[in-house]
Amino acid sequence: MKNTTISTSPSNSLLKTDMDYNLFKKILKEISKIEFLCLSGIGEPLLHPRIIDFIELARESLNNKTTIGFNSNGLLIDNRTADRLVHSGLDKIAISIDSTDLDLYAKIRRNSDLDIVLAGMDSIIKKISKTPGTRLIPGVQIVLMKDNVSFLPEMIHYFGERGVRFLIVSHMLPYDMNLESNVVYDANSEGAVAVFNKYRNEIEEKNITYNFYHEIMKKFLITKDERDAIGVIMQIMEEASFVGEYVNIRNILKREESSINEIGEIFDKTAWIADKYNMQIELPAIIPRADRRCDFIEEESIFIDTEGYIYPCYMLWHSYTSFIHGRKKFVKKMRMGDLNKQSIREIWEQRKFRKFREDVRSYNVPYCTDCNLSSCCDYVMAEDFQYDCSGNTIPCGDCLWCKGIFKCLSS
Ligand code: SF4
Ligand code: SF4
Repeated sequence: MKNTTISTSPSNSLLKTDMDYNLFKKILKEISKIEFLCLSGIGEPLLHPRIIDFIELARESLNNKTTIGFNSNGLLIDNRTADRLVHSGLDKIAISIDSTDLDLYAKIRRNSDLDIVLAGMDSIIKKISKTPGTRLIPGVQIVLMKDNVSFLPEMIHYFGERGVRFLIVSHMLPYDMNLESNVVYDANSEGAVAVFNKYRNEIEEKNITYNFYHEIMKKFLITKDERDAIGVIMQIMEEASFVGEYVNIRNILKREESSINEIGEIFDKTAWIADKYNMQIELPAIIPRADRRCDFIEEESIFIDTEGYIYPCYMLWHSYTSFIHGRKKFVKKMRMGDLNKQSIREIWEQRKFRKFREDVRSYNVPYCTDCNLSSCCDYVMAEDFQYDCSGNTIPCGDCLWCKGIFKCLSS
């Protein structure tokens, strides 16, 4: 096990408590050789009254090469906190700033204050410059949405000028149906697009649009032209099946190629500006990668919540609903063990967790998001996922983390 993410503060303070200091000490004893310790999960770490003590203790207990970091909303970084963080032994802080425009920021983060957040960021950067030998590197995390994507290059320029050293750019995970129309990524995967593109000329010649397809699928009697159109669709499906892909015809016909190309140009410009400022940058995929790679499993990570329960990955450490292509997706948290009863080593080695990791690493699951049945499939729409249509008991078929769409702080 190489990476540990610990949620030190609750996501909902009415239901949970901050992580106990003794529990944190117990965890540190068991992870002395890890590569990366992340102290943020869903809540704001700086709300924890002893977060700086946690960092100092972690620095003392862990290998000197271990990177310690966390994400913050930046609202609680006053001069004193900035000073303590710079001297605490922390390596990375990623402050969430989704826009540098006051009005847009206020629209995106309703209960926040951009001036306070930027002052906190500046304060940290200034203290770093006056503290030779500090390990701390300042960064920014940006959640991309249609509202802010066109401003990305100028934001990077702004952060570069102010001395930010790294950037993490992730797509938005829409927890609310109204938010889905604001996502920037297209959920049709590279594999589906590659198959579809082979038939692009025929699709255009026969004028097969989303509305046309939607109408003919409702008809009992169809014309010759409509039959020809269905023939092309069938060819696409057969080809996809032959090469082991799925193509969701409705979703792929709604795909907006030009806006995807525009995002590509924005990303190229963004990467160029980041390079100019010598800033390290992580950009997400614009469409789901053809190949899966679950960084959490490959990098041997665990996730620990405030109460000491262990989970395997970012997707499965809390229960929530999100939306993909208009479909409501339920995620149920998947506990692998309880640190109050077992050690990390015991939980890591137990059969349930070992099998989970082996199953994920086999990457032998369908990509549900491309499947034509996804909007009516009882397996994937279940509130409490049990298995997919191939009998896999891991809920990874419908995961966009392993397709490069979401990014988080890493070493
Ligand atoms: S589980 Fe359902 S949505 Fe996923 S590939 Fe199988 S049939 Fe399609
Ligand atoms: S593929 Fe997704 S759901 Fe599966 S372990 Fe990785 S992040 Fe979790």
